[in-house]
Amino acid sequence: MSKILIIGAGGVGTVVAHKVAQNHSVFGEIMLASRTKSKCDALAEAIGTKYGNRKIQTAQVDADNVAELVRLFRGFQPELVLNVALPYQDLTIMDACLEAGVNYLDTANYEPKDETRFEYSWQWAYQDRFKKAGLTAILGCGFDPGVTSVFTAYAAKHHFSRMDELDIVDCNAGDHGKAFATNFNPEINIREVTQKGKYWENGKWVVTEPHAIHKPLNYPNIGAKESYVIYHEELESLVKNYPSLKRARFWMTFGQEYLTHLRVIQNIGMARIDPIIYNGVEIVPIQFLKAVLPDPGELGENYTGETSIGCRIKGIDKTGNDQTYYIYNNCRHQDAYRETGAQGVSYTTGVPAMIGAMMFMQGLWREAGVFNVEQFDPDPFMEQLNKQGLPWHEILNADLEV
Ligand code: NDP
Repeated sequence: MSKILIIGAGGVGTVVAHKVAQNHSVFGEIMLASRTKSKCDALAEAIGTKYGNRKIQTAQVDADNVAELVRLFRGFQPELVLNVALPYQDLTIMDACLEAGVNYLDTANYEPKDETRFEYSWQWAYQDRFKKAGLTAILGCGFDPGVTSVFTAYAAKHHFSRMDELDIVDCNAGDHGKAFATNFNPEINIREVTQKGKYWENGKWVVTEPHAIHKPLNYPNIGAKESYVIYHEELESLVKNYPSLKRARFWMTFGQEYLTHLRVIQNIGMARIDPIIYNGVEIVPIQFLKAVLPDPGELGENYTGETSIGCRIKGIDKTGNDQTYYIYNNCRHQDAYRETGAQGVSYTTGVPAMIGAMMFMQGLWREAGVFNVEQFDPDPFMEQLNKQGLPWHEILNADLEV
C-alpha cells in the first residue's frame, strides 16, 4: 500500500488530509507534518474518527531545513511528498526529495521570500536531477494552477486541432461576512494580487499596471462580476506547452470593498515584504499583517455563495472549423465546509492535489523528471474530478465575452 507524506496543515492541508483519508484503496499509510504539530494532531484526530478509524501519523518539521526534511523522509519512507506548505518551501522540499529518493507534488510555484517573482525557472532547473534519480515531480496541482491546466490539456486533446486564445476566468462569488479576509495564506495572496498585470500576446509578455484591464464577465449560476486581468503562474507553462496560443490571459473577480482595503494596505506600507525594525525587532510588515487578519482556514462556517473557475478557449476544432469552448467547475463554500470543515478555495485546491497524488500512486502520472500537470494525460484526472467533489461542465460555441 502506498505511503504519502503531506507537509502543511493549513486550509489546503486540511482538505488534502480529508480526501486522502477518504480514498482508502489508493493511500495506505498517511503522515501529516507541519511547523506546528498541534495543528496536525487535531486534524489527524478529527479525520481518523470520521473515516473509519484511519490512523494518521503526525510530525513536526521545519520545511525550510533540508536536513530535518531528509531525516523525516528516511524515517517514514513515503513514496510521495505532497507539499501544501508555502511556496517558499518548494525548493528545500525538492532538495530533500532528491536526497532521500522520494517523489514530489505541489500546488504553487516557488517564490523567494524577499522578492515577488512568480516563475517556474527555479523548479524547472531540477529537471535533470529528478530525471537522473528516476523520480517524478508534479508542479502546480491545485485548481489554478492545476485543474485549469488539465482543462486546457483536455480541450487540446478532445476539442481542438489548434488553440488560439485562452482566457482563464476565476470568480469567487462567496461572502464570508468579514470586512477583509483572504481565501488562502494572506501573505501569498496579497503578493499575488498586488503585482503588475501580465499576459501573453503574439509571442511576448505584455505588462500592465495592476488591475488596469477589467470588465464584467458572466459566470454560470452567478451572473456578471467585474473581472480583472492579473498574472497567474500557469500562463507561463501553458504558453510553453501550447505554442499555438496567440493570446493567454487570466481574469480574477474582486469586489470594490476588497480592492479598497488592498489599496489602503499598500498605501500605508503594510504590503511591504522587506524587513523593518519595530521596537528594536526586525519584522516584515506583510507577515505582521497576516498575523492580525482572519485565518483563511476559519472562514468556512459562515461562508455562503460559490466559486466558478474555468477556461474559455477559441481556436479551430478537429474538423477545421472555428470553435469556442468553455469548461468550468462551480463549487459551493457550504458544501466544502460540510465535507471538510474548510471553505471552497481550500477545497478546490486540496481536492486536485489529492487527485494528482492518486494519479501518481496509480502509475498514471509517473515519469522521471519535473512536469507541469498539462503534460500528463488529462482523462483519468478529469474522471476523478467528477467523482471527488469537483464536477465540470462544457459549453461549445457560446459567446466567450473576452
Ligand atoms: P496556510 O497558511 O493556511 O497553511 C500553510 C501551512 O504550511 C501551515 O500549516 C503552516 O504551518 C505550514 N508551514 C509554513 N511554513 C512552514 C515551514 N517552514 N515548515 C513547515 N510547515 C510550514 O496556507 P494555505 O493552506 O491557504 O495554502 C497552502 C498552499 O496552497 C500555498 O502554497 C498556496 O500558495 C497554495 N494554494 C494554491 C492554490 C491553487 O489553486 N493552485 C490556491 C490556493 C492556495 P503553521 O501552521 O505553523 O503556520
